[in-house]
Amino acid sequence: MAPASALKKNDNVIVISGRDAGKRGRVLRVLPEKGRLVVEGVNFIKRHTRANPQKNVQGGIVEREASLSASNVQLVCPECGARTRIGRRLLEDGRRVRYCVKCKGVVDK
Ligand SMILES: [Zn+2]
Repeated sequence: MAPASALKKNDNVIVISGRDAGKRGRVLRVLPEKGRLVVEGVNFIKRHTRANPQKNVQGGIVEREASLSASNVQLVCPECGARTRIGRRLLEDGRRVRYCVKCKGVVDK
């Protein structure tokens, strides 16, 4: 599997390529079947909405985050602060956790 699937909701990530390269944000949603995710404040798109008085919808331009390819982001390690790839290991208590390949710190608390 691609490292994409290793990211989870609420992870802090940094964008490593594309228009928003260098931006950091929190993962809002993961779309595993598409290998994509939505990151807070990243990849804004403008959506033009038509007013619909019957549904009380105001017309105008709505900006919101669009999903981006999970391969364009990397985890920011909560332990060492570096952008990093994620490994997985089994703890003695049987929990499977993700860890930072740089500092070996456990990402999942
Ligand atoms: Zn680390």
